[in-house]
Amino acid sequence: MKYSRKLSEYFLPTLKEDPKGAEIPSHRLMVRAGMIRKLAAGIYEFLPFGWRVVKKVENIIREEMDRIGAQEMLMSAMQPKSLWDMSGRWDVYGPELVRLKDRNDREFCLGPTHEEVITHIVAANVKSYKELPLLLYQFQMKFRDEIRPRFGVMRAREFYMKDAYSFDTSEKDCKKSYSDNYNAYKRIFKRCGLDFVAVEAETGNIGGQFSHEFMVVADTGEEEIIVCSCGYGANTELAGYSRHIDETDGNMLPAEEMYTPEVKTVREVSSFLSESPEKFIKTLIYKTEKGPIAVLVRGDDELNESFLIKAADVRELEKASDKEIAEVTCGVKGFSGPVNINIKIYADLAVTKILNGISGANKKDYHLKNINYERDFKAAWTGDLRKVKRGDRCPKCGSVLEFRRGIEVGHTFLLGTKYSEKMGASFTDEDGKEKGIVMGCYGIGVSRIVAAAIEQSHDKDGIIWPFSIAPFDIHIIQLSDEATAICEKLYNQLSVNYEVLWDDRKERPGAKFKDAQLIGIPIQVIIGKGYTNEGKLEVQFRKTGEKKYIKPEGLEELIENEKNI
Ligand code: ATP
Ligand code: MG
Repeated sequence: MKYSRKLSEYFLPTLKEDPKGAEIPSHRLMVRAGMIRKLAAGIYEFLPFGWRVVKKVENIIREEMDRIGAQEMLMSAMQPKSLWDMSGRWDVYGPELVRLKDRNDREFCLGPTHEEVITHIVAANVKSYKELPLLLYQFQMKFRDEIRPRFGVMRAREFYMKDAYSFDTSEKDCKKSYSDNYNAYKRIFKRCGLDFVAVEAETGNIGGQFSHEFMVVADTGEEEIIVCSCGYGANTELAGYSRHIDETDGNMLPAEEMYTPEVKTVREVSSFLSESPEKFIKTLIYKTEKGPIAVLVRGDDELNESFLIKAADVRELEKASDKEIAEVTCGVKGFSGPVNINIKIYADLAVTKILNGISGANKKDYHLKNINYERDFKAAWTGDLRKVKRGDRCPKCGSVLEFRRGIEVGHTFLLGTKYSEKMGASFTDEDGKEKGIVMGCYGIGVSRIVAAAIEQSHDKDGIIWPFSIAPFDIHIIQLSDEATAICEKLYNQLSVNYEVLWDDRKERPGAKFKDAQLIGIPIQVIIGKGYTNEGKLEVQFRKTGEKKYIKPEGLEELIENEKNI
């Protein structure tokens, strides 16, 4: 027998009204459909109906992880500070880390992630190349004191995650593990019925060499992503990758100084000189812990500060004050330029390709025209520094990129030896040499997937579950007392192969239909008068609203067909 329940005995507190403060459909519907309840800001209880969906998602993930040879385990949520001191993250993680003390004043945190713990375990228990590779994972509640918990379980302070960690003897093998996990993720999200894209991403708090985010495409998503029909995708945080610059042909003209009184911004200079902003070299002066730097982007571009932090390898980055600008440029704000400036210059690639450009002259009320990279100025570093913008073209195929919004449901990182070196996770190789274990880590927001699935699949009446993660397959809606015996028979018969929820409550038909639409089980079997008519069942599909009248024997075939769509 499959897991089937009578609604009269099932804990499913549905609500007619939307909960207060719920901004997005999935949050409203999860509360109204009796899936979750709020305990405190960003802290939710999963009720049986909601937890069933989480478990369905968990099972899909488990099957796909086991298929690539991963081994499930369970680590403790409470982690000693000493491990976080070793990785250096106790001090850098900030207020998102939930910290606590035990009765002896020893410090702990509640795990927001488990790189420290797993690396510690492997360091203590693996010695030789013969014991590698390893791919270990767990399902567990994670704790993050998010600055803005919102959208129900979408951005919670306690949430259910699958986290996996790979350990290999070489970078080459680690890349293979990475791609196994990447492919498993694709299968997982597809099986969950999600419309998703994998995008190149920033490595953030976790660090490492490169990473991908898996985004469910939805208007309510918190992330801005760019996608292309060729399959390319990136988070706009990393969209320097989208650069595609046309070369301009022509001759370099001699540089000239121009008197431009009181004309300071790109827009002002551009209209004063009747030149387009693409000709301008915007020069921004920043303060860093390594001293002041100059940053160049094209007049029509905006600087992406996170790229600059990476390029300049600095921790502190702040715009210089007017006084500081005057000091380093020997001019006043609004007239900075790259020619004859004696601080380190970071230039966006597009700037290096401007023919006969315009910039400030580092002199009050003067600009320079016809300046060219290499001839008139040079940069210590060139690369991607600008924000992606509408109209930009794909770096892979050249088509215009599409801007979408996404919900991040999974994240894969190639970590390299970042953690293994700090935490002493090494092994003896075949040649007897001691080497650092090469790691990857792979997270999935299991509880967030549930919300993301609803975000993608609902209508004004309620949730529309994809079969694979629906809490039940079939919803029997009993409309009269006389139908009890028929319903019971059908319930027992269908429960052999399907998960059935039987609405046997003494409620008005209207209330039952409303609840059925709200909780969104894929197939509704309505038992009222219809069944006595020629012995046919009235079957309604939640997704399309389509009705069919069929004999009970035909139901299983119908369901199987529906599942395969
Ligand atoms: P975000 O950018 O959304 O804060 P993150 O980069 O901090 O995510 P990871 O550390 O990569 O997230 O965590 C792995 C997965 O856990 C994420 O892909 C996401 O699906 C999920 N997740 C992260 N934070 C939360 C949260 N506060 N509530 C629910 N799920 C979360
Ligand atoms: Mg986060």
